[in-house]
Parts: sequence; C-alpha cells; structure tokens
Amino acid sequence: MTLCHVAGMDAHSALTGYAQRVHTVFCPIVPPHVLDHLSRSGDPTLYEPARRTLEHDALQRTRRRITTVRMTAGTAVPRTGEDAEKKPQRTISDAGHKEQLPGTKVRSEGEGPTEDASVNRAYAGLGATFELYLSVFSRYSIDDAGMPLDATVHYGENYGNAFWDGERMVFGDGDGEVFRDFTLPVDVIGHELTHGVTQHTANLAYFGQSGALNESVSDVFGSLIKQYGLGHSAEAADWLIGDGLFTDRVEGTALRSMKAPGTAYDDDVLGKDPQPATMEDYVHTGSDNGGVHINSGIPNHAFYQLATELGGNAWERAGQIWYDTLTSGGLTPDADFAAFAGVTVSAATSRYGDGSPEREAVLKSWSVVGVSPAEAG
Ligand SMILES: [Zn+2]
Repeated sequence: MTLCHVAGMDAHSALTGYAQRVHTVFCPIVPPHVLDHLSRSGDPTLYEPARRTLEHDALQRTRRRITTVRMTAGTAVPRTGEDAEKKPQRTISDAGHKEQLPGTKVRSEGEGPTEDASVNRAYAGLGATFELYLSVFSRYSIDDAGMPLDATVHYGENYGNAFWDGERMVFGDGDGEVFRDFTLPVDVIGHELTHGVTQHTANLAYFGQSGALNESVSDVFGSLIKQYGLGHSAEAADWLIGDGLFTDRVEGTALRSMKAPGTAYDDDVLGKDPQPATMEDYVHTGSDNGGVHINSGIPNHAFYQLATELGGNAWERAGQIWYDTLTSGGLTPDADFAAFAGVTVSAATSRYGDGSPEREAVLKSWSVVGVSPAEAG
C-alpha cells in the first residue's frame, strides 16, 4: 500500500473518517541508475553534484513522514459547484538553495508573474496539470477534492532532481553541466503530480511490475499534459519525458522515450538508456526498486501504440481508457503488467463496447509489447 519509495502502514481514524497513512514518500524524476553513472565520471564538475544528489536522495528514502490522505470518494468533500468554478490553488515557494521545505512563499494563486522564470514555470506547470485533469477527466486536483498545489523551486545546491514528497513538488536547479533547471519540462511536473493522483486512486506499490506501472502512469499523464498544452495529436507529439532537461553536453534528447524506449540517450557519461520496449527485453534487477524506471518502458510503449493506433488526440480515447483503469477500482496495489492490461481491456469494453475499435486497439497494443491481458474480474 505504498507510493514511490515506501514501506508503510495505514491507520484509520474513526473520528475524522480519514485514513492516516504513515510512510515515506519520495518520487524523483531522475532514476538512480543515471546518477550512478554520473557519480563514476572522472570529472569533478560532473561527479560532485551527482554524488550530492545521490546522497540527498538516499537520505530522503529513509525519512519517514506522516501524511493524511482522504482515502475514497466516500470520504471526499462534497462538491459545491460545477467544474467551471473549480480553480487551482497554487503556492510557489523558494528554498533559496537550501534543503529546507517549504522555503519562502513567492507566488500565490492569482498573483502575476515574478521576475524568477523558475517560479513562473512551476506555477504554469501546476496549472497545466490541474487543467488537464479537470477539463478532460473532470478530476478536481490530485485528490479529486480540490487539494492545493504547492511547489518549491531552487531546492538545494546544484540539486540534480525534482520530486514529489506526498505533499508538494520540489525542483532543483540542476548542476548546469548535465541537467538544466528541473522546472523546464512541463511533462516532468505532470509526471510528479500524477504520482499524487496514483496515490489517491490505484495506489500501485512502488516495486517490481506494479512500481513500473506506477512510473508508467506518471509518464503517460505527464506526456498528455504536455500534448494537451501544445495541442499536439498523437502523431505530432514527441512522446519524450524530460525533453529540454539535458544540457547540450549530453548525447541525448530526454530521460525516456515512450515511442522508442531505450533510445532517449546514449552518452559516455550517462551511459545508455536501459529501457525495454517489449517483454522480450524485460530487465530483471534488484536496483531501482526492481527496475521501476526501466521496465516502465513496456507499458509506456503499449500506451504509445494505443494512442497512435487510435489517432487524433491521445488524451481523448487512449487517455480516457488509462484514466478509467486507474480509477475503476479494478486494480490491486500489487497489480502486474498482465493484470493492468486486463483492466484496460475491461475499461475499453465498458466505455466503448465489446467489439469496438477502441477495445481491439487496446488488445493489439499489449500484443505488440508481449503482454497477455489477464482476465479481469
Ligand atoms: Zn516517477
């Protein structure tokens, strides 16, 4: 029953009706295998920031925190208005290169842009994420109950990552050598906030295949947030995660490619993108929580296949099937690829009908990546 790097326990309060979940929540965008490569570089301008980021991230993984989570729709705050009246409630803070959260408040909801581009990009990225979920899926913020969206920029010294800690988004500035400012790619912001959506819905355990699904769901919706904002169809979209994050020094375009997993980068310092596109190349590993950022390439590619097979805007039918899968209640936290695929088939069947082109396209996309959908139910 965990999100990202966690082992935890749930306690239910009869008084508040809310479940109190005690756990560590830490979801960084840059996986440890990339930072590991960097930390072994012979160049101190590269390995020093990478080692500091790794040390920081390892510490975060062992920290425990308490977050109160509204568990189900049954405990959600009653709706008071139509979707049109629902607005994001954003607060951006500046950590001033320290590692203390939340930092100093620099922009609140409705306030105009500041002179700090990182602040403005974080504000816009939170807004774009809120907008996709509300406009396309009628979801009112991360918890579907209007949860405020908080972010902190300029976290740490040359910190080479961005993460969701269960309550807020935190962005580093990057080291300027390999990574640029982490507020740059909007799909990274969407990816991180979607970990919050998963936390409040299917709650996929962050290990092995369920963990790779958790990662993949974040990539899928992160990419959809970017595509929606740009008005890109499935054909026009780049299907990259973290495009714009690497400096020119890196031989690579992004952290991951959903269109062609394994091809996002091939660099003498970073190593080669290890993502498989199909089950044939599934990576068995104990590191990175059982390869959650590696094997996510397989469900990522299945989604790409579905979206391009259907054509048009990926957030419409393909995105709807994935959103229904996440929110239908049909997934258990330890769902594997086959179980997840089975629920996508049921979701397509209930929304578009047995024998519909959508259902056929779902079956075909899983077949391309070598996953046989389990019988749902
Ligand atoms: Zn993630």
